Amino acid sequence: MPADVSLRIFNTLTRRKEPFAPVEPGRAAVYTCGPTVYRYAHIGNMRSYLLADWLRRFLEAQGYAVTHVKNITDVGHMRQEMLDRGEDKVLAAARAEGKSPREIAAFYTNAFLSDEAKLNTLPATTFPRASENVAEMVELTRTLVEKGFAYVAEGNAYFSVSRFPGYGKLSGQQAAGLEEGARVEADPLKRDQRDFALWKAAEPGRTLKWPSPWGEGFPGWHIECSAMVAKFLGPEIDFHTGGVDNIFPHHEDEIAQSEAALGRRHVRYWLHGQHLLVDGLKMAKSTGNTYHIPDLERRGFDPLAFRYLCATAHYRARLNFTLPSLRAAQRGLNRLRLSLQQADGRVTKKAIAAGDGLRREFWRAAAADLNIPAALAVAWRAARSPLPGAVKRELLMDCDRLLGLDLLRTGQLDGLPAEVQEWRRERHALRAARDYARADALRTQLLGMGYEVRDTRAGTQVLRVPAWQQEEANISSSRDVASLLDEPAAVDFTISIVARQGCAEIERCLSSVRACTRGKRTEIIVVDNGFEEDCAAHLEDMAGDDEKMRVFHADHFLGSAAARNVSLRQARGRYVVFIDTSVELKGDIRPRLRELLDDPTVGMAGRWGVLTNDLRSFDEAPASGDVHAVEGYLMAFRREVLREVGFLDEKFRFYRHLDLDFSFAVRSRGYRAVIDTALPVVRHDHVDWLATPVEERDRLSKRNFYRFLQKWGERTDLVTARR
Ligand code: AMP
Ligand code: ZN
Repeated sequence: MPADVSLRIFNTLTRRKEPFAPVEPGRAAVYTCGPTVYRYAHIGNMRSYLLADWLRRFLEAQGYAVTHVKNITDVGHMRQEMLDRGEDKVLAAARAEGKSPREIAAFYTNAFLSDEAKLNTLPATTFPRASENVAEMVELTRTLVEKGFAYVAEGNAYFSVSRFPGYGKLSGQQAAGLEEGARVEADPLKRDQRDFALWKAAEPGRTLKWPSPWGEGFPGWHIECSAMVAKFLGPEIDFHTGGVDNIFPHHEDEIAQSEAALGRRHVRYWLHGQHLLVDGLKMAKSTGNTYHIPDLERRGFDPLAFRYLCATAHYRARLNFTLPSLRAAQRGLNRLRLSLQQADGRVTKKAIAAGDGLRREFWRAAAADLNIPAALAVAWRAARSPLPGAVKRELLMDCDRLLGLDLLRTGQLDGLPAEVQEWRRERHALRAARDYARADALRTQLLGMGYEVRDTRAGTQVLRVPAWQQEEANISSSRDVASLLDEPAAVDFTISIVARQGCAEIERCLSSVRACTRGKRTEIIVVDNGFEEDCAAHLEDMAGDDEKMRVFHADHFLGSAAARNVSLRQARGRYVVFIDTSVELKGDIRPRLRELLDDPTVGMAGRWGVLTNDLRSFDEAPASGDVHAVEGYLMAFRREVLREVGFLDEKFRFYRHLDLDFSFAVRSRGYRAVIDTALPVVRHDHVDWLATPVEERDRLSKRNFYRFLQKWGERTDLVTARR
């Protein structure tokens, strides 16, 4: 790195960009809040660790001796979080497999280290385990009690927030117990609800516990980091990193504890990475948008494509992850690597000087608040420049010390079959001779074999197109398929089945539909809404070469409404019928549905429906006739009606109340909704419902219900007018 480059970094504490001045000349102490190891780290967590890695690499390139400590939270936070979110199922499940908490922690720690290695994250100097440093936490707590910053109540120790005047300086938040008070009962042992636990008494039956002057117990989460920072790095450190959610209360509390106990500044520079979103949403198991590094590999991606993707956004900006964006990142990474494979030109003084100019620009860009995307852009300019190969390679290898993208990896070029190599040379020669027609024919031939051809100044390159790129059939959003709504009906019925899980369920449903809806005038559209791989393959087997059936594979869970919209956009029937995979046909439903829907006053028909007086509680309609909403298990309408009401509202990711919303949308146009309980269908258990944990069901159902109420809550006319 050129000597005149110096780091300026945004400090969360001062809310300003500041020049870096180390506590000790030539050395840098970095602490990173590490993973909680009772579950896999997701790609959002990994983004936060990449920030720490880029910081570390920058400092090392600048010549600092960096000590990097990343703790492993295997006690404390683990329990707190599980209690708060009711997530102890994970532990319970692992226990059911006969694992101890220690084994669980070891398992997920290994998974985490493996993910970090795949992302080329330099291993921290030390990965201290919280469980192995409890004595230090007890000691620190004792100091705080002795100094009057903490008090003990029934075997618990609490930090007294009012005793520490600087409380709130990092986050600007005091949040009188909001964080905890909102989710759990107010703790009667706390003198002030803002106070937080340093030590908790062990409840009866708890196995993971340690002795302390206040009885057996276990440490709080925040004290862990205070104690380990002091033990492994000293009383004052240079950098502390984490995600923005760590600012409050975790880091605010850490400052209070450390500064109160040690009587001096705790951390010079606080760095917080913004979150990663997936498909525009916070990642959550229940939203079905959580990814782990192995999920990306399974889809054929190089984990470093994820690193590349993170490198395209500044760490203080949110990053929205989508599979198409990851594909673009993979392409970018492949191309950057390929650019280093070009033939050598002559190394001249001028070329070396030009290379040095770019080098300075690269490091300067990175030095401005660790602006990796700006640095990456300079690396790209270098890659595209006409610099001789040797100069370019050396320069990009230098860039890669920071980027960590393994730019010299040539995997794709190794092992090309000899004939492909031969055709590559031939195409280059044909182009050189300006025989473009034959050169292009060769390209088409290669493409058909799964190879992509790229011509550069230096020659023709050939890349194996990975499986994920060949699968054009995979869709990432409903807009990936064309809308045929304006085209006239080509068949009578479109039967739409959307399935997310349950191989057996889809098979039962689909075979009953095929058996009961024979004839050319009906098409079946199945949307695989992010099925497990083997189930998706099974679905293809079932479809075989049935011309009546089309299967769309979503590359991830699109959300319930969006997946249904895929089928609505592609439907060519005069009537559309949604059939849930929990439903089995026992006879032909088409004649009766057609009869019901040929009444122009009817907009929607089905087998099950609901009635309501107040739009808040809904009862199953007991008999055939008009209902306030048709339930989604079996829902039929004229395709035409979509022109008036539009497609489904894609904000409904979870399926519940989506049927109510759509029914009301149809009924608000003046149509009736009717059911016929004599339709030959039966209903089985609903897999999506059974697979969703109880508390998640409540949360998701409520969320959808509020959405419904917001839209329709005032339309009492729709529940009083008819009937
Ligand atoms: P945890 O294992 O929950 O303690 O989280 C580990 C690290 O990941 C912490 O530094 C969090 O701030 C960070 N983190 C959590 N969720 C995300 C996200 N969606 N994007 C980026 N970082 C995150
Ligand atoms: Zn921490």
